[in-house]
Amino acid sequence: MTKIFWDATPPEQHKFVADPATGSRHNRGCAVDLTLYDLKTGNAVEMPSLYDEMSERAYPTYAGGSAEQRSRRDLLRRYMEAEGFSVYEYEWWHFDYRDWRAYAIGNQRFEELTPTR
Ligand SMILES: [Zn+2]
Repeated sequence: MTKIFWDATPPEQHKFVADPATGSRHNRGCAVDLTLYDLKTGNAVEMPSLYDEMSERAYPTYAGGSAEQRSRRDLLRRYMEAEGFSVYEYEWWHFDYRDWRAYAIGNQRFEELTPTR
């Protein structure tokens, strides 16, 4: 999958997708992509960019958008950081767990992962 995304993405957008030569952070089992949902409506809340958007609006430091959108984005980041995750510099929705570099790159399908107990 990582290679399919890489090949389908224009070179100037490559910071938004994983380089198959080094492996996606997601292939280590230490990364998560997430957003916030409004429990009353069941809908994802508005953030400064769309989820998975490939533009500078996706940067966690992007200063545009509404104050409300930025405050939701920053709230998500604060809660994730409190649990040991750090935000990816180009995507407000992508978080890596601490020490993610120490984990080997895996390439199993979910069906191949069996419980250890
Ligand atoms: Zn991600």
